[in-house]
Amino acid sequence: YIILMSFLLTGGLGLQAQNSEIPSSVKNVETKVDSILFMMTLEEKVGQLVQYNGSWDLTGPASEMGNKEKEERLKKGLVGSMLNVLSVEATREAQKLVMENSRIKIPLMFGYDVIHGYKTIFPVPLGETASWDLEAMEKSARIAAIESVADGVNWTFSPMIDVSRDARWGRIMEGSGEDPYLTSLVGVAKIKGYQGDDLSDSTTIAATAKHFAGYGFAEAGRDYNTANVGEYELHNFILPPFKAAADAGVATFMNSFNTIDGTPATGSKMLQRDILKRDWNWNGFVVSDWGSITEMIYHGFSKDKKHAAEIAFKAGSDMDMEGGAYEAGLLELVEEGEIDESLIDDAVERILRVKFKMGLFEDPYRYSNPELAEQISYEEHREVARDIARKSVVLLKNEDDILPIKSEVQKMAIIGPLAADKDTPIGNWRAQGEANSAVSVLEGIKAAAGDNVEITYAEGAPLGIGERSFLMPLEINETDKSGFADAISKAENADLVIMVLGEDAFQTGEGRSQAKIGLAGVQQELLEEIYKVNQNIALVLINGRPLEITWAAENIPAIVEAWQLGSESGHAIADVLFGKYNPSGKLPVSFPKAVGQEPLYYNQQNTGRPYSEEHVTFSSYTDVDKEPLYPFGFGLSYTDFEYGEIQLSAEEMNANGEIMVSVPVTNTGDVAGKEVVQLYLRDLVASKARPIKELKGFEMIELNPGETKTVEFIIDEEMLRFYSANKKWESEAGDFEVFVGTNSRDLKKAEFTLNK
Ligand code: BGC
Repeated sequence: YIILMSFLLTGGLGLQAQNSEIPSSVKNVETKVDSILFMMTLEEKVGQLVQYNGSWDLTGPASEMGNKEKEERLKKGLVGSMLNVLSVEATREAQKLVMENSRIKIPLMFGYDVIHGYKTIFPVPLGETASWDLEAMEKSARIAAIESVADGVNWTFSPMIDVSRDARWGRIMEGSGEDPYLTSLVGVAKIKGYQGDDLSDSTTIAATAKHFAGYGFAEAGRDYNTANVGEYELHNFILPPFKAAADAGVATFMNSFNTIDGTPATGSKMLQRDILKRDWNWNGFVVSDWGSITEMIYHGFSKDKKHAAEIAFKAGSDMDMEGGAYEAGLLELVEEGEIDESLIDDAVERILRVKFKMGLFEDPYRYSNPELAEQISYEEHREVARDIARKSVVLLKNEDDILPIKSEVQKMAIIGPLAADKDTPIGNWRAQGEANSAVSVLEGIKAAAGDNVEITYAEGAPLGIGERSFLMPLEINETDKSGFADAISKAENADLVIMVLGEDAFQTGEGRSQAKIGLAGVQQELLEEIYKVNQNIALVLINGRPLEITWAAENIPAIVEAWQLGSESGHAIADVLFGKYNPSGKLPVSFPKAVGQEPLYYNQQNTGRPYSEEHVTFSSYTDVDKEPLYPFGFGLSYTDFEYGEIQLSAEEMNANGEIMVSVPVTNTGDVAGKEVVQLYLRDLVASKARPIKELKGFEMIELNPGETKTVEFIIDEEMLRFYSANKKWESEAGDFEVFVGTNSRDLKKAEFTLNK
């Protein structure tokens, strides 16, 4: 037995010379994991459950240990992973400490927030989702993985698949918006991009599905706040993207800071141990959010670190991110018999399994590969970034076909605090994206406009005052209007004004919730002043959340939602403005008429009073109606698409059957264009009140002028399932409505019946 174990162990350690001698039957990951686990002391096992921060020295409950002490513990093999260790050299150094000094030599994983690119920056996730182009999103994740690997990072804390319906929440920018179906598909595409098929390729990195769960439902959109969510809401609207991520084989999950129904998610056994690990049978590991185990003390859920460690661990949190709670308590808890060592073994196995899959035991340094860095063509990556950036632009309004810019336009004034900004398009969570490295709108327009177009520029007013960073939000300029006069005179003399307004890079992201979501500072006033002298305005918005732009929507003839589009932002925007790219993006989130409508989302349930004008008014607001300014799925093109009537292959189906839905779509305009054809369903009577519609499919088509394509969707029983009053995913017999159209509001409708 001992001989067998040591034989397995050499295989397990992956010493390459011995590897070939191991029979293939025992070469599988599980055997290797067991062989290592067998050798480990309890202290070493607990060590695998600890993650250290590598670069920032934040004070507070999360980081009380000095670097020297951390180094000693690395040498003893008492650390499983590090985050924020950047550069090939630094990761090699840290890995060497472990590999050359520790007893069992279990390589570290290096985690980092690679959220929308690493060096080449792609649109912020909310913006990128607006492309509805899953292939492109997979590609940007693939590129982010390659660039990360070249710097030694082998694990990203992405994708964030928290459904969010609240524009006030700063982190809405990091996710895919308000729809669980779209978020699921984007999440899976991202995971495939990061991880490849199975993580075996050394240019892939481990992904993280986060934040599990309910984080996007923070009450009043305030970050870290309580999520008051019932079981029905949880299962139908929050969990589906996580289930999809688990099924797609995501290597890790991250839990979340918030309490959900009174329990901190980090301490929720129901979420982590019961749903994720038992019901979904997922075999990766859960990392806590930054210090979220220790934060349970502040939630009033644990009395000290040891108690927090006990709760989080028993609940199924496998790795403690920088919290020090597991270090403070787990060993003792096992020795005291409070925690069974078999539970520790399970957590360690999960972590080792991921490390084996990543090939770290074969080559602990495979991810810090300086040669790879030299092979990367950042030029090519930027081309891909430009392409996805322009696909992410959403045309919100285009009266009198003011766009694309006509050849008669001889004088253009580019105005606004974000017009020449080379930093904000990089967005928050910018990884190693260099400050001020984006192409600005001004630069993009200058490069695209012909020589005979005269371009003037005026900032109008600065958006903010002084420095800002990830840790420090921008102080918004509320008073300085000294640049208005110059901007007004430039606008007066122009044939067309491009106004570039919106939000600073660090106005969205973690800890950047806002109670006001209009054009911050003096921007609204600037817009209105310019409008007084020249109404020929195309407004370009650069922002990370839906904004309250009701005045602009009523007055400004053209509005282009350009998010924070990353490194190639200005070129991408110019491609759209000049018609080199016909916009095809669609909103992944509703835009409100007033912030007081938030949370606002299309897949809501009816009140009991939708039946007459009067009652609709009663169940709305007295000052604003209840409809969004721009609905989910909305986005215009430079051409027009006309939808014919829906044809169903049958009006009834049984549980094994299917119905084909077909709709002819015609390009009735003058230019070729792309359209995202959307399919929604409604279950008319059910054991729980169901949403008035839910996205269930979409297809992007490209049509030449005059061309018609018939788009087909298949409806089967699985698509009709929901988490029902029986507390399980099932469909219920009865009548359904099916809708197809260009956005969640403007739809053609038909009906069918499910018989069971
Ligand atoms: C965030 C996570 C992030 C982690 C590590 C936390 O504050 O909530 O999303 O991955 O920090 O940087």
